[in-house]
Amino acid sequence: MNDNVIDGRAVAQEVRDRVKREVAELVDSGGPQPGLATILVGDDPASQVYVRSKHEKSREAGMQSFNHTLPADTPQDEVADLIVQLGDDDSVHGILLQLPVPDQLDSDALIALIDPLKDVDGLTPTSAGLLALGKPSMVPATPSGCMDLLRAADTQIEGADAVVIGRSILVGKPMHQLLLAANATVTHCHSRTRDLAGHVRRADIVVAAVGVPRMITGDMVKDGATVIDVGVNRTDEGLVGDVDFDSVAPRARAITPVPGGVGQMTIAMLLVNTLEAARRQAGVAVARRG
Ligand code: NAP
Repeated sequence: MNDNVIDGRAVAQEVRDRVKREVAELVDSGGPQPGLATILVGDDPASQVYVRSKHEKSREAGMQSFNHTLPADTPQDEVADLIVQLGDDDSVHGILLQLPVPDQLDSDALIALIDPLKDVDGLTPTSAGLLALGKPSMVPATPSGCMDLLRAADTQIEGADAVVIGRSILVGKPMHQLLLAANATVTHCHSRTRDLAGHVRRADIVVAAVGVPRMITGDMVKDGATVIDVGVNRTDEGLVGDVDFDSVAPRARAITPVPGGVGQMTIAMLLVNTLEAARRQAGVAVARRG
């Protein structure tokens, strides 16, 4: 691996090892064993792989994991009932609704039913609002992982010009908030942006979360920029990112590969959030008893 390639696998392994140690400490000190519940509606093969992997990694970290797989034609009220039921279940500290859901379901309405204390995906209006206000909150796992990768690469974030491309609630918007909170000057680009290349060329930090294979090319990137590629695109040549690695890597100070970059961090940060959720709920329970 070249010196400037950020090794997401290694950083994610460190995070998972740390979570495993801290889960053991929490349990040893009389705290709860963190529990993660996932809800998968339908049989989308990619979602099945993601959910399986979330369970494997949470068990490896010493957590309990509960999977609820529902048929693709499950009506809204049944999924809603399950979310409410998991919210009342003391052994469940984190609830994750695997997205995307089938068309008959209103994912926004379902997400809004997740108890904010158990919102390990950070997608509820409460979590998103707290993040926007700069208050402690559950942060979506992927952008949170991007911040860890920037730090692992010793990136100067404070005062840096950062460009985020993509404005989804899952990645782009929380990424913007996190960079802003870390005192970067953030420019946000999307499909209606005029002169995307011009914005990207001025950036010290580039985060691409678009879903268009290799759209960020070497001629668009300033020498010495740090480039985080969130994109996961399945092509005939295999998985590729939103960044054209071959032309961008020679110019970048540091760059994440696809695969082996951001994707590795997403599950690791989900475990961080589940542990944090268990700690907060244990704290809330103690406060209620006291
Ligand atoms: P999304 O909801 O489809 O959002 C894509 C964003 O890109 C939108 O804001 C869209 O702009 C913008 N966009 C589309 N075409 C563009 C263009 N030509 N120029 C500039 N902006 C453009 O996607 P997402 O959920 O954020 O995911 C983005 C990528 O990250 C996907 O490849 C996804 O698979 C990947 N991903 C990876 C992980 C991981 O763990 N590694 C996690 C989540 C997502 P508008 O808002 O104007 O439409």
